[in-house]
Order: sequence, then structure tokens, then C-alpha cells
Amino acid sequence: MIKLAVPAEDSLEPRVAISPHTAKKYIVMGCEVFIQSGAGERSHFSDSDYEEAGAKSVSSAKEALNDADIVLKVGRPTTEEVQSIPSKALVVAILDPYSNREGLEELAQSGVASFAMELMPRITRAQSMDVLSSQSNLAGYKAVIDAAAQFDQAIPMMMTAAGTVPPAKIFVMGAGVAGLQAIATARRLGAIVTATDVRPAAKEQVESLGGKFVAVEDEEFKEAETAGGYAKEMSNDYKKKQAELVANHIKQQNAVITTALIPGRPAPKLISREMVESMKSGTVIVDLAAERGGNCELTEAGKTVNHNGVNILGHLNLAGELSVNASSLYARNLLAFVQTMIDSEKGELAIDWDDEIIQGTLVTRDGKIVHPAFIKEGT
Ligand code: NAD
Repeated sequence: MIKLAVPAEDSLEPRVAISPHTAKKYIVMGCEVFIQSGAGERSHFSDSDYEEAGAKSVSSAKEALNDADIVLKVGRPTTEEVQSIPSKALVVAILDPYSNREGLEELAQSGVASFAMELMPRITRAQSMDVLSSQSNLAGYKAVIDAAAQFDQAIPMMMTAAGTVPPAKIFVMGAGVAGLQAIATARRLGAIVTATDVRPAAKEQVESLGGKFVAVEDEEFKEAETAGGYAKEMSNDYKKKQAELVANHIKQQNAVITTALIPGRPAPKLISREMVESMKSGTVIVDLAAERGGNCELTEAGKTVNHNGVNILGHLNLAGELSVNASSLYARNLLAFVQTMIDSEKGELAIDWDDEIIQGTLVTRDGKIVHPAFIKEGT
């Protein structure tokens, strides 16, 4: 029998890596599921929900991890957990490999095979395993809800006997998964929505959701998308032209949602201090890139900054604030991935180490860091 373990997350992480629904599926596949008591509490999954699904609830992470073959987590396992994970185990989580070298080395030394879900290749077969998409979509929605809650005006246009309330203007910077959901949500609330991105494919998507596309559409823009569907780092010349365009546009906005990211790089700075100072008092900026340094120069991760009446929200883990949905979707992403590594007829692990999705996500194995993006010369 494959032993699958799910320790609880730390106090900053409300999500959980397994739902009662996916626990049941793992059991059908031939796994025995051990979950630390209380692990699902902040996603409103009780120990008895898991037990009804056939999982066993245990009192500590150590107990869950004892002799585990597969360990599922949201965040990277803590040092203490790593010490309790057997070296034969597979560890599947959001490992944050770009900004946590020490954590990566610790995992490598423990001998486990660890998989960073955020590195999942963007191929059709892996769409159901794409944790960045499932979580960013929720974050994009929540960013607009947070902006609306912070905002001292109504979003939709209202025609009343006492006069007309004008619709709010919302500008979305970065029209990927989070940005597109932010556009759709802002439109549903009745805002006038504009959006920008450096990838040409974003233009049609923004327009199909009823937003107006605002961007520097030069030759560099036409080449800005990588084969993996992500944005490239733009040249200084492009950034200058983009900043000029944004500076004029941003002054007239009531709320700005920023979501621009470049994999493995700090978030591009798109809103300068001067731009913030040109905005009207009462404007709200929600910076979804806060975790990677922020798209706004004045963003402070995990805080709300008020600068001359402009509120800049640097909330972390917005998807986690919708923990019920975020955990359910994340758990399904993991199930779809782990399923590819199990021979359910025999009830044993059967991993194709040459598979594109395994190679794309595997970061440590047999005591070493093995992912090409993280192998340092001399290691
Ligand atoms: P992301 O989170 O890496 O970045 C968010 C957005 O910021 C992107 O659209 C990016 O182009 C944009 N951006 C980067 N630098 C910018 C700048 N200087 N100015 C303005 N915008 C900037 O990206 P994402 O949301 O994960 O998705 C990127 C694309 O990949 C999307 O088109 C998405 O539909 C696609 N995608 C494909 C698959 C798949 O095929 N399996 C899965 C998920 C997403």
C-alpha cells in the first residue's frame, strides 16, 4: 500500500493540500491516507469529513510522515518536517524554488524526490495540474473585491432622482490568468475597465471580456511571449515608453489591480512614486505581485500603505483568503499530477522519470538538486 501523508500548514497558510473529495480518490487508487488533525480546519474540512472519506486522522505531523511514500503540502515542508520525511518519499508542494535556495538544499540533502508544482509545464495535458492558474484565478477575483471594499465610491453607474453616480474606472496591469479574472469581475460589478500587458495575445482576451486594451504595441511587443506562454523581461527602451503611456492613463483611474510577473525574476516595477502622487485621493491599488517585490514602487508586502490618500494593498496569498475554493482546486491539481505516478491496479508507485511533467517539476532527487534551472556550477 502507498502511504500518503498530509501534514498541517503553518499559521500563515490557510489552505490544505487534500480535500475529502481527493482523499477518497487516492484511497480508490490504492493509497492509505494519513492527515494531521486540524489540517483542513481553515478550509472548513473537518477531521470527520476526511475520516468519512476513508482517511486516517493522526495527532502530529511526525506521525503522519512516519514511513510516508508521498507527502502533499501547500507550502514547502518545514525543517522539522523534512527531518521526519523518509528519504524514499515523493514530496509535492509549492516549493518557491526561485527565492528559497536554502530550502531547496535542505530538501536535496534529505534524499527525497521533490516536485515544485509552480514549475508545471504549460502543455495541454498538464492544464488540470496547473496550480498557478487555479490559484491566480481566485486571487484576481479577490483583488477586485478587496478594491471595492476599500473604495469610498460605488463601482457601477447608478441613475437616481438625486443625480447620476458615475461608474468607477478600474485599470488592470498584467492580463494573464489573475488579470483576466480581475477584468471579468470588475466588468460584472459595472466598472469601466482598461488593461495592459506586454504579450500581444492578451489584447484579444482583454477585449473579449469587455475591457479596453492600452499598450505600447511596437515590434518588441510582437515578440514578448515565450514558448511557455509567459512574458519576457522587456528592454529599458520599451519600459520607458510603457511608463509614459501608463503615467497618463493612471491619473484618471479609481482603482488599479497589478498582476504583472516574469517567472524567476523580480516583478517589473510599473507604478512609480510619481505616478502614485499623480493619482486622485481615494484611489486604491491592489498589488498582486507584492510577494515578488511588487509592481508598485511603494508596495509593502503584507501591508496596506496610505500615500497621500492613495491606498496600496500589498496583501499576500489572496487565493488563500478564499481557502475553501483554493484548497479544493489545489487538491485537485495535486491529484491529477500524483495520479500519473501511481499504478492503481498494482497499488504501487510507477514513475516515468522521462515524462515532460515529471522532468519539468522535479527539483531534487537522490540527494541532489536536479532541475536545470537550479543546478549551480560545481554542485
Ligand atoms: P504570470 O502570472 O507570469 O504574469 C501575469 C501577466 O503579467 C502576464 O500576462 C504577463 O504577460 C504580464 N506581464 C509581465 N510583464 C509585464 C509588464 N512589464 N507589463 C505588463 N504586463 C506584464 O502569467 P500567467 O497569468 O500565469 O499566464 C501567462 C499566459 O499563460 C496567459 O496567457 C495564460 O492564458 C497562459 N496560460 C496557459 C496555460 C496552458 O496552456 N496550460 C495555463 C495557464 C496559463
